Amino acid sequence: MSESSKQTRTPLIAANWKMHKIPPEAADFVSALKAAVLPLEGREVVICPSFTSLEAVRQAIQGTPFRLGAQNMHEQASGAFTGEVSASMLLAAGCRYVILGHSERRQFFGETHEWVNRKVRAALAAGLIPIFCVGEKLPEREAGQTMNVIRQQVRGGLQGFSSKEIGPLVIAYEPVWAIGTGKTATPAQAQEVHAFIRQIIVELFDASRAASLRILYGGSIKPDNIDDLMAQADIDGGLVGGASLESASFARIVSFQVSTPHVSTS
Ligand code: PEP
Repeated sequence: MSESSKQTRTPLIAANWKMHKIPPEAADFVSALKAAVLPLEGREVVICPSFTSLEAVRQAIQGTPFRLGAQNMHEQASGAFTGEVSASMLLAAGCRYVILGHSERRQFFGETHEWVNRKVRAALAAGLIPIFCVGEKLPEREAGQTMNVIRQQVRGGLQGFSSKEIGPLVIAYEPVWAIGTGKTATPAQAQEVHAFIRQIIVELFDASRAASLRILYGGSIKPDNIDDLMAQADIDGGLVGGASLESASFARIVSFQVSTPHVSTS
């Protein structure tokens, strides 16, 4: 994809707080973030707290361009699913986004391609924007299987959708070996997979859908690597775990600067 198609995609930086922060901590974080980064120009910011801090973040972001997201949801609209939360509940709680298929959900909670596919369908049907995560494990990368794994995950998660149905869906490429490890993919490694994902979208849907799809990178994003990652032609933002827990580091990531955009060879 060309650099010019990148200009049409609004960069998105999302904070994945995982199982961290109680409501007062969440509210304090948002106050500090507001002071550090507003007004936002040319970028979108999404905060994904735990379910119990959704309301605190919803209140704290009122009147700002920040958006609220959840970290997971159940695919059924309602029913006897103790401990689960549905898409309509998330919408009512003020969410616009939901992270789906995160590698921790796949690894620790047994989420499969088919299951993630059902969740993506339910989220889109309800009007939530999925941040659909894919990524290879270290042994898969070392065995030269990265692209096969990514192809299976993208095709599995998006199987059965039309271009129109996937709507504003966002994909996050998160190599599992880079999540929470301090090992970031190099900008070139990330760009290679992002360009590959965009090509899969061309095959599954069409070139214009691929050109408008936002693909985030995730995996040990830090203030000192965000600028180089964002300079890549097919990297449209970041899904940030550890470095999103501290307002100063997340503010620096949100304030990424791209001086010399790289032109993709794909
Ligand atoms: C994540 O969990 O989505 C993530 C990218 O985590 P970290 O930034 O800590 O690697």
